[in-house]
Amino acid sequence: MTSAMQQLKAYQKKVIRLGEISSVLGWDQLTYMPPGAAADRADQETTIQMLIHELSVSPAVGKLLAACETEVSGLEPDADDVALVRVSKRDYDLATKVPAALIEELVSHSSMAYEVWVQARQRSDFSLFAPVLRKTIVLNQRLAECIGYQDHPYDALLNEHEPGMSTARLRQLFAELRPALITLVADIANATQVDASFMHGDFPLASQQELTLEAVRAVGYDLNHGRQDKTVHPFCTSFSRNDVRITTRYDEHMLGGALYASLHEAGHAMYEQGLPSELELTALCRAASSGVHESQSRMWENMVGRGGPFCTYFLPRLAHYFPGSFGSVTPEQLYRAVNKVEPSLIRVEADEVTYNLHIILRFELEIAMLEGRLDVDDLPDAWDAAMQEMLGITPPTDSEGCLQDVHWSGGFGSFPAYSIGNLIAAQLWNKVQTELPNLSASIENGDCSPLLNWLREKVHSKGAKLFPMDLVLHATAEPLNSRYLIDYLNGKYRDIYGL
Ligand code: ZN
Repeated sequence: MTSAMQQLKAYQKKVIRLGEISSVLGWDQLTYMPPGAAADRADQETTIQMLIHELSVSPAVGKLLAACETEVSGLEPDADDVALVRVSKRDYDLATKVPAALIEELVSHSSMAYEVWVQARQRSDFSLFAPVLRKTIVLNQRLAECIGYQDHPYDALLNEHEPGMSTARLRQLFAELRPALITLVADIANATQVDASFMHGDFPLASQQELTLEAVRAVGYDLNHGRQDKTVHPFCTSFSRNDVRITTRYDEHMLGGALYASLHEAGHAMYEQGLPSELELTALCRAASSGVHESQSRMWENMVGRGGPFCTYFLPRLAHYFPGSFGSVTPEQLYRAVNKVEPSLIRVEADEVTYNLHIILRFELEIAMLEGRLDVDDLPDAWDAAMQEMLGITPPTDSEGCLQDVHWSGGFGSFPAYSIGNLIAAQLWNKVQTELPNLSASIENGDCSPLLNWLREKVHSKGAKLFPMDLVLHATAEPLNSRYLIDYLNGKYRDIYGL
């Protein structure tokens, strides 16, 4: 007779394979699919998603999980099967706590809301979007009640992205980060600015494609189990841990965009490629959370890619492809240019220092709206006031302000993962410096493998076995805190700007 655990694994394999098939369809849609195929593709994807959903909420799974719990009750608490049952039960509870009717309402609301958002942003007319956002808030309040929470409804929404993280803890982390960043941004604004003019010029697409491939190969992205293609919005997607793909976009007049988007997506991809092979096709063979995923992309993009040693190593490659722009640039000049800080209106274009302020702003406004402290009609003014306070600039239009992100068409609670990722990245980065004292020299020689191996051991190979905050605790021997990100940013940027 097959054991309950064997049945659980067979069931998960089926659900995961369906998800992978859906990823292939999604990747194709955003890269090579002819426009005329859009309607069929949407129907194909809905068909698979419905199958996945039906499988995920089936009462039979609930019974199977109960049997599994009994079966693993005698094992050590850190055994893989115990973790698998725990994580699967969490998934099942989350999937079944929300009534099908609410899920349907959320899905149809967000596709309608997306269309309205596109119009509202195009015309920069917040009054078009306001009623939609009001409904988004009500639906998210209802969602939070269904999922359940101890202290704050936002906890429920946050948990979908960051299991175990609380609103109270985030408030504390952001309360420390906020004033430190505002001071640093203001100090930089008063300093002598860096010259990044050579990052703009003529950079033919074909050369950029070769260059970005060299960059992702240099950091350790395995192209035998991946590839890079062109798209409008860069992303990483996994068809299995043996086929993890990245995409990027190219601007023929600006080099930084494609280069750093490639390194960012390669960071995500290397995490997926390093997930535990022995747990393949189970609920444990996935990232610990969105925040941990983002910590990997940010580390490779910012700490490595925008770090001095990698600039020194990679400058000759830039000069090889674009001698006119980089032939006479020094490593120090390159390092300063790729770390230029400039308060800007748009989150996705923000630099490493100002980025977290964009997130804190959204977090504070989401909570105020969810609590009913901020009326939707007052959002544009609240947004502009926060931008002025944090970054010293005011958006001239709402499309460059509160209408810029797609997120509020659907759900609340996803923005913090970006900053959680930066916090985790800085704490891991600090730890790896103490454990691998020769890392800088190694990267300067073009060998990033010591860092990748360290991340494989401490982060990737754990899959989803640990809660994200426990993963950080295990890897760095202390709970997540804001000190490392604050110290890292102050250290790096006060040096660059001579402060
Ligand atoms: Zn990312």
